[in-house]
Formats: sequence, structure tokens, C-alpha cells
Amino acid sequence: MPVVHAPATVPSAPPTAPHATVVIDVADLTYTYPGGQPALRGVSLRIMEGEKVALVGPNGAGKSTLMLHLNGILGGPASPVHICGRPLSRDNLPLIRGLVGLVFQNPDDQLFSPTVLEDVAFGPLHQGLPEAEVRQRAARALEQVGMAGFEGRLSHQLSLGQKKRVAIATVLSMAPALLVLDEPTAGLDPRGRRQLIGLLRDLPVTMLVSTHDMWLVDELFPRMVIMDEGRVVADGPTPELLAQPSLLEAHGLESLALPHH
Ligand code: ADP
Repeated sequence: MPVVHAPATVPSAPPTAPHATVVIDVADLTYTYPGGQPALRGVSLRIMEGEKVALVGPNGAGKSTLMLHLNGILGGPASPVHICGRPLSRDNLPLIRGLVGLVFQNPDDQLFSPTVLEDVAFGPLHQGLPEAEVRQRAARALEQVGMAGFEGRLSHQLSLGQKKRVAIATVLSMAPALLVLDEPTAGLDPRGRRQLIGLLRDLPVTMLVSTHDMWLVDELFPRMVIMDEGRVVADGPTPELLAQPSLLEAHGLESLALPHH
């Protein structure tokens, strides 16, 4: 597949205030899976505090692999990833896992306690916070995702949309500096999708969200990063990249035939 560089590419200059904090700094990250499959080939990415960024690209582009590096699930001691200025060293791992709220595509990979409250309280409890604060954080996180009142419900009996929202609450309760979501709207019905979009819009947190849902990208994310074959092939303002059908097509992305673009 040809690699097309968009004229709008701005690798590390998001439109933010001069003194804004760099939340994600990835410098030339290369990763090959143990079986020998190259997944990332020199990815650089910088995301500032408060940005909401969409990560798009065809299956196999390396989006999930990149996300798994952001809280150290993948990557060794020499990882060229910094979160809020801190290197991803072994000593920093517990701290960085608190800073990066990583939400997997399948909520069943995230929810493992019997009840919703236990799932949402697990992170802060594990951080050693006092019980009163754990309760407060869990209540607030459930409120943020519109699931207050579901504390005693059995996690595995919820609908997919409800599970996804509880999965987001399990990381919000850790008060993360950054939310990293892997295909949050995948598999949701229209109502569940709308609820999730409203939730993501209202959350005042820095976000990196992978998705195939170009309408979601258009609606919610001012900045868009396109990956293909383990590389960042375009990074810029969403309206500018969405206005380039040949760029989208070259990387297996759906074009939005929108008159206002
Ligand atoms: P995306 O999230 O964009 O679909 P991935 O990060 O899952 O892409 O995959 C990037 C590449 O790494 C693909 O070639 C994929 O087959 C490979 N890959 C992903 N996960 C694994 C794994 N656990 N073991 C070996 N190869 C993997």
C-alpha cells in the first residue's frame, strides 16, 4: 500500500498554549512482536493536555500496539515513551498505570469483579487509598458515565453499552491524566453509541481514541492521526484530513461525503 503524506501533516505541533503540559510523548517507537511480526516502525507522537485525538487506520496498522505501549503493557526498559514527562521505566510503572486510563475494546477484558461497585473501586483500592475516598471516587466515576445507581448490579449481566461505560468508570476512578480508548463505539447500537459519544464529549480529560467510526471522528475529535503499516502517515486537524478523499482511501478509511467540508 502506498504511503501518502498529507500536506497537512504536523507531527508534533498541536494547536495549544505555549506552556501546556505534554501528556504523551512517543519518540521513534519501533516494536516487533516476539513471533517476529513488525507492528510499529518508528512512531512519533506528541499529545498535549486537554487534546482529544482520534487514532485511525486499517486493521493491523498498529493502533492497539501503540496504545499498549502507553501504560507499559508492551515495551521494555528502553521504551521511548514519556507520560506527563516521566519515562516508562520499571520504577515509574505503578505511577504511569495510574496516569493512563487504558480501556480495551472488549469490556469483558476489563470487568472481572462480581459487582459494578467492586469493579470501579478496584483501581483506587489497589492504589491504597482510604476507603472513604475509594467510595467517593467510585461514586463520582459512575456518575460521570451515567451509571449511578448500578453499584450493586452484576457486571457480567449488563448490556454491552452499559459494560463499556462501566469499563470507562473503572479507569476514571483512578483520576487518570489521560484516557486511551480502543474502539469505544464498536458493537454498540445507535442509542448506546449516542450515549457514549455524549459521555466522551463531556469528559474533561485528555483522550486518545482509536476508531473506525469516521462520523465519530468528525463529530468529536479536532485532531486526527492516521496510522498504516506501523507508521504515522498523517497527523493534523481533522477537517483538513477529512477533506482529502485520496488520503483516506489510500489508508482504507471511509470518506464522509459532507457538503460542509
Ligand atoms: P490495529 O490495532 O491497528 O488493528 P495491531 O496493533 O493490533 O493493529 O496490529 C499491528 C500488527 O501487529 C499486525 O500485523 C498484527 O497482526 C500484529 N499483532 C498484533 N497483536 C499481535 C500479537 N499478540 N502477536 C503477534 N502479532 C501481533
